[in-house]
Amino acid sequence: MSDAIEFAQRLIAAPSVTPATGDVFAEMEAMLAPLGFEVHRFLKGEAPDGPVENLFAIRRGPSGSKHFAFAGHLDVVPPGEGWASAPFTPEKRGELLYGRGAVDMKGAIACMVEAVRHVPADTGTISFIITGDEEGPAVYGTRALIDFMAERGEEPDLCLVGEPTSVNRLGDMMKIGRRGSVNIWLEVVGNQGHVAYPHLAENPIPRLVAMLAELDSLTLDDGTDWFQPSNLEITDIEVGNVAHNVIPAKAKARISIRFNDVHSGQSLSDKVMAIAEKHGGHAKPIISGEPFLTPPGVFSQMVSDAVESETGVTPEQSTTGGTSDARFLRAVCPVIEFGLVNATMHKRDEAVAMPDLDTLSRIYTRIATAALTS
Ligand SMILES: [Zn+2]
Repeated sequence: MSDAIEFAQRLIAAPSVTPATGDVFAEMEAMLAPLGFEVHRFLKGEAPDGPVENLFAIRRGPSGSKHFAFAGHLDVVPPGEGWASAPFTPEKRGELLYGRGAVDMKGAIACMVEAVRHVPADTGTISFIITGDEEGPAVYGTRALIDFMAERGEEPDLCLVGEPTSVNRLGDMMKIGRRGSVNIWLEVVGNQGHVAYPHLAENPIPRLVAMLAELDSLTLDDGTDWFQPSNLEITDIEVGNVAHNVIPAKAKARISIRFNDVHSGQSLSDKVMAIAEKHGGHAKPIISGEPFLTPPGVFSQMVSDAVESETGVTPEQSTTGGTSDARFLRAVCPVIEFGLVNATMHKRDEAVAMPDLDTLSRIYTRIATAALTS
């Protein structure tokens, strides 16, 4: 039995709803320092999105050795109501360990810590890139850590993010990329008036409807070898007109696009803005992340081999799902995500199978060793 389960319990017991600071990072430092890691912790940002705590820890191998990084987050989403046990009091029932963050992703971070105990220090340099702001706006988190590392000239050769990527059983999926995401606010301004005198008013709703119909009918692309087709969804329509005899002055809507590497956030924003203007409206985009792809190759094979050796399963190489901090780390080095089964993430009664923690620790040991020695 490994210590991963104990590490996971210690992390779960430190409440860390996003943005996280304090105790959970002290716990992490207390685990890493005895393993020979030099631990840096710093706060970034102000309310409401901060302050956020970030941790960079490094154990240096012999000079000239390779540098492998584990990355992840210690913040969690709010627990919500109706848990069978207290969400920040880890509880074992049968094979399962319950607690907020058990799979997303304190469990995986516990496995990373356990994993490095089994990688001799002279194998190479290992670091931990751990933020308290992944589940929130991610403004003061991993991006600040990347700046922190750049200032010190710390450059990992490869990075593994421990997000819960497995679907039905540990090992069945890894992420070699993620789609980008852009949300766009649309608005059409008309001229308010009485419905009985439409010639004296200008109704913005028909123009908004035509705009949305055109946007909804777009085929953005047909997908690529590694990505599903980009998708545009209408996520809100808002007029807020309570009077049955008034033509409203304004109509608004919002769309959300998840897109592959055929596009950039800017290229899609430009396209939508042109359509909005054609219908006499305006569009205001906010890009939350660009897509990334670590093309299948040496690194994905390392991860795949490690998973197969411990589970007998060959992981599917996927780019599905939401965004993650890998969207920032990809600027530093090749990055792949692999972690626990995600069935209960963000849910009530989040739980991890304790045998999976032991298995994932061994998988992480194999990946780190391969990354440093190949
Ligand atoms: Zn996560």
